[in-house]
Parts: sequence; C-alpha cells; structure tokens
Amino acid sequence: MDVDNAQSPVIEARGLGVRFGPKVVLEDLDFDIRRGEILAIVGGSGSGKSTLLRQITMLQRPSAGSLRLFGQDALALDEGERLRVRRRFGILFQNGALFGDRTVLENIATPLWEHTELDHGSIEEIATIKLQLAGLRPEDGLLYPSQLSGGMRKRAAVARAIALDPELLFLDEPTSGLDPLSAEALDELVLQLKATLEPTIVLVTHDMDSLWRVADRVMLLGDAHILASGTMTELAASGEPLVRRFFQGPRGRAAMSGATGQK
Ligand code: ADP
Ligand code: MG
Repeated sequence: MDVDNAQSPVIEARGLGVRFGPKVVLEDLDFDIRRGEILAIVGGSGSGKSTLLRQITMLQRPSAGSLRLFGQDALALDEGERLRVRRRFGILFQNGALFGDRTVLENIATPLWEHTELDHGSIEEIATIKLQLAGLRPEDGLLYPSQLSGGMRKRAAVARAIALDPELLFLDEPTSGLDPLSAEALDELVLQLKATLEPTIVLVTHDMDSLWRVADRVMLLGDAHILASGTMTELAASGEPLVRRFFQGPRGRAAMSGATGQK
C-alpha cells in the first residue's frame, strides 16, 4: 500500500542487505526514518555509511530486502518514477565536489537548470536565496570553488543540495576536514535549515560534537549490522561494549563533557 502522509516514515528499510561479490557490507538492516527528524548514521571507517546512503538515494540497488521511500516501493519504480522521487532529495556527497569551472552561483543553479523549466532570471533569484540561506554573501556567488575556504566550499555544496527545496536532505560527512569553529558553524547551518525548510535530514558523521549538537536520533553501524539506535543520551549511557567503545572512547567523552543542549 502506498502511504505518503505526515505520520508515515519517509524511509522504511526491511532486511536490507548489500554485498559486493563475496564481501557483505550490510546485512539485514531494519529501520525507519521519520518525517522531519535529523537521523545521524555513525560507525567506523568502512562500516558502510556511504554505501547505505547510496542505497537509500537509489544510486545503487540493494542485494536483498525492501526499501520504501515516501511510502512507495523504491525497488519497483520505473525510470521516470525514480527521477520524480529523486527530485525530492538533496544530496551532499562525501568529498562531493563542486564543478570547478563554474562559479558558486552557477553550481547552485545547476539542479534548477536540470530539473525545472524556470527562466534564467528566476533561477538566478532562487540560487541567490539558497546561497544566502547557506550563509554565503551574494558576492561569494561570483567566485570559483578554488577561491573559497573549506568552510565556504561546504556551504556552497549545501546551497546546491537545497536548490530544489528537498524534503529529504542527505549530508555525508559535511564537517569532515573543517576546523572546529567552521564545523560548529556548519552544524548551526544544519539546524537553521531544519527550522526553515523543515526537511528530513540524514546525516553521516563521526564528529561527536556534531552528534550532540544536531542529531535527534543516531544509528550506529558495525559488523554489517545496526549495533544500536537511539538518542545520544541513550547511546552514551549504553552498556553494550561495542556501543560504549564508540561513544565513550576519549573523543566521545570529550564531546560529552562539552555537550550543550543535550538531546
Ligand atoms: P564508510 O562510508 O562507512 O566509511 P563505505 O560505505 O564507503 O564505508 O564502504 C563500506 C565498505 O564497502 C568498504 O569496505 C568498501 O571498500 C566497500 N565498498 C563500497 N563500495 C564498493 C564497491 N562499489 N565495490 C566493492 N566494495 C565496495
Ligand atoms: Mg563514507
């Protein structure tokens, strides 16, 4: 049954599995992502976080299980339907590069050129609004990516990801490579976007500070499975050895002691 309303989960995965040849990366995952929440996916390097994002954004087809997006069976969609669903996504890929030969504003405008029939003036207007929503100044729009700092480049990539007012925003390690202050500012931006555009946000990160600041709920991947899911407060109090190792290691404890606005 196709259900797409405010109460139903935006993403529902059951028995989801991913393997590459003999290598099992994810096995038998069951999870829902609720409308309007910020769900963080965490786990060690190579635990399958980016792979999971590729499944739920329909860039790859899972090897097993079922996946529903906005109430529709994502694995049964034809090409046209798949495009229509993906049109509701905004994605910031890990290491997601901006087009180096296009200005920031042109980068942000690209999804609008590709997916809408809007005229040149409207596209420029919308791109400028998104630029500012992402915390950049209009004059930054004229710069090329190589002329930006790391933090500005991430903001430009976020602006491009929100160009089409996505209902579902995927951010793969948006603060990686940023200094702590720029990372904190980017977390603020994520919270602002949530407040203004009200998307559901799926965030991959291993930044403990970010987790405390922005995540409504956290899902820990390890050994191809979901080791735990819950709020940061719940996970930080867990007695499970693998969960403890992740959340109560030195970096976890440092972030916890500095945590404000506890979730
Ligand atoms: P994470 O984002 O958690 O660091 P990834 O999802 O990038 O991890 O990768 C998880 C595992 O899947 C890694 O061992 C990686 O080598 C493997 N993997 C990812 N994509 C492919 C692929 N296309 N072919 C083979 N192995 C892959
Ligand atoms: Mg990754």
